[in-house]
Amino acid sequence: MPQPVATFSTLVIEQLAGGITAIGINIPDHTQNVMNQRFIDELSQLFVLLRQNPPRGLLVESRREGSFLAGADIHRIDAIWTQSPAQIMDLCDKGRNLLGLFSSSSWPSVAIIDGVCLGGGLELALACDLRVATENQKTVLGMPEVKLGLIPGWGGTVRLPRLIGPGPAIELIASGESVTGDQARVLGLVDACVSSSSARASALQLLEQSIATESFRKRRHDQQQPRILEKPEHDFLLATMGAVIAGRTKGNYPAPMAALETVVQGSAKSIHDAASLESKAFAKLAKTPVAKQLVRVYRLSERNRKDGGLCDLPKASSEDFAAVQRFDKPSVVGAGIMGAGITSRHLRSGFITNLVDIDADALQKSIPVILEEAAWDRYHQKTNHKKASELTGLLMSSTQLSAISVSDIVVESVTERTDLKQKVLAGIEAVVSSSTVICTNTSTNPIATLAAALSIPARFCGMHFFNPVRRMSLVEVIRGPDTSDSTVAAVVLHAKRLKKVPVVVQDSPGFLVNRVLTPYLHESVELLREGVDLESIDRVSRRFGMPLGPLELYDMVGLDTAFYAGLVMANAIGDRIDASPVIPALVKAGWLGRKTGCGFYRYKSTGHDAKIASVNEKLWTVIEPYRLPGRQITDDEIRDRLFLPMLLEALLVLDEGIVRDGCDIDLAVIHALGFPAFRGGVLAWGDSLGATEVVRRLDQFKYLGPRMIAPARLLTHAESGLPFAAVGERVPVQQKNV
Ligand code: NAD
Repeated sequence: MPQPVATFSTLVIEQLAGGITAIGINIPDHTQNVMNQRFIDELSQLFVLLRQNPPRGLLVESRREGSFLAGADIHRIDAIWTQSPAQIMDLCDKGRNLLGLFSSSSWPSVAIIDGVCLGGGLELALACDLRVATENQKTVLGMPEVKLGLIPGWGGTVRLPRLIGPGPAIELIASGESVTGDQARVLGLVDACVSSSSARASALQLLEQSIATESFRKRRHDQQQPRILEKPEHDFLLATMGAVIAGRTKGNYPAPMAALETVVQGSAKSIHDAASLESKAFAKLAKTPVAKQLVRVYRLSERNRKDGGLCDLPKASSEDFAAVQRFDKPSVVGAGIMGAGITSRHLRSGFITNLVDIDADALQKSIPVILEEAAWDRYHQKTNHKKASELTGLLMSSTQLSAISVSDIVVESVTERTDLKQKVLAGIEAVVSSSTVICTNTSTNPIATLAAALSIPARFCGMHFFNPVRRMSLVEVIRGPDTSDSTVAAVVLHAKRLKKVPVVVQDSPGFLVNRVLTPYLHESVELLREGVDLESIDRVSRRFGMPLGPLELYDMVGLDTAFYAGLVMANAIGDRIDASPVIPALVKAGWLGRKTGCGFYRYKSTGHDAKIASVNEKLWTVIEPYRLPGRQITDDEIRDRLFLPMLLEALLVLDEGIVRDGCDIDLAVIHALGFPAFRGGVLAWGDSLGATEVVRRLDQFKYLGPRMIAPARLLTHAESGLPFAAVGERVPVQQKNV
């Protein structure tokens, strides 16, 4: 058994047979291997030692299960906000030079990528001469820097295009998506993809071959050369990739376009000049507010990942998670739009899942939809049919509730009718064991009302997914008056195992997301009543960064559903916001939105995916009786009329203790409504204006009445200057009757 020859705190050095040195990465105090300062210092010290006593070859691997190297420690990224562009460029150069030691040594190196290999981790692997990935499900390779508003800064934009070609490199860098080990092999990003157990043998074999033939020298030489693109390819890349990126980013996220320009320009240059271009582009991006917001959103997501859902963060530890009930036998009741999405999500996470629907036809129709969605390959943007047939074995379906008797968690997602839901929930309770956790995906029913149908309400809560489930990652975990802590913690953990973002909220009308959405939707209709053009309203909202305008969203949700939800919301906000008379009038006219092919817009077909054909030209006949006095209104006013009420509602939600803190609100609106992440969420957007400016802007809308009056919390912030969304003391969402 080879013995370690030296041990740093982040690296284990081992001498293998035949003069090969192995470096095992193991970063303490982190759940993933990340590049922190200690790792960087030790890597550089290691090269001093290696140069004194050169190995024949070097093998780089991880000593941590499932994690090769997941990129830079986020604290290092935080350090750059206060630095000048020149200092940031210097940091990039230093990091790139450190990784350059792999490719400038007299011996070849091979990296074994068994687990997560992202950002700086992939840049390190690229600096090695050879790469072996594994078939391990945890093995993913990618450069997600654009998701933080940045681009790779340690040679990624220089090495990757020279290895796999500029087109695929741009796609990987500009999308921020990751690939599996096998996809990496097909791209030429790794030399082999093998099982984890044979990875070392495979890597050593490749290394010996490279030493014997000295082929690593030719590789290094090739990597140094510019990749001069023929003019048609150059123009094609800029035009087509540029159009794709512009379509994806709508001009709001500068990093992907910077990645395209840096790779295209850098490919034609010497690696030295390409490296300077990279440093310059990185430093420029690091100074944008977008990068700052995206890094904050990343931090919120990380915080959410560690959060057990019950108490303040510092108290939650991995032991807390270990004690939480883990479910292995999930069931979903109701195979409609939402039930199908929830079932897909379970299959995608590898759960054997029972699906029950009373309607055999609905059940049968849902199965291909579920399998296609569960086997969707995000990188190739198509269904992986092999995977779909493998997943068939995980899906059990039935029209009988008795089929779910062995479940340890059941998510009820049947038609939104209180009496029906109560009946179904009681039926579920009658067939499952007393320890089974029961959840409802209701959008509007109070959890307390539904809990009344159960004899053990402590094991019941809301588990509210958003439509479409595949795209919206938020799950509201709604605790009813009797929901126990253990139920909340177990459902939060289950949502995480489904790769969702759970936020715990108190049982109250609209919960969190629909509550803050309502004033925004309402205001869009008020603007219409004042004679503002419908397309202008949606255009302003999209330009702000929303995926859909509010009137398009109404049509997607369905006007009947919106009408019903409006009645529920009247309980919470009726004193400030009157229910609009326009929505019931549209429902009366039979215009329910996409589902009927007509709502605010007219559609080319009916159904969930129907595309807009035109504005509903008869809309004004319905609105006319409810017209309000109008005046000329600018796009900026439309923007403020739409989004300030959302901000005010978010502040009231905070006051009422419906969520634990403002950061949960920001995370929720991003993951449920597609609120633009580059603005950091609705409270962060308010912070970017400043409370005083928000008060000033509200002042001009005083004539609209109570809905535009600054709440006390806003005035307090305006006085103190403190931000709305600071990570402060958290107030646990408590059982009400404790
Ligand atoms: P849907 O109408 O598409 O599907 C409901 C399904 O429930 C149907 O297939 C129906 O056959 C089935 N069902 C009815 N009675 C049943 C019973 N007794 N036993 C078993 N199955 C039964 O509805 P949906 O849009 O999927 O909504 C389901 C739930 O999700 C509702 O509570 C809704 O409020 C909530 N929700 C919907 C959305 C959305 O945008 N559609 C978003 C979030 C939450």
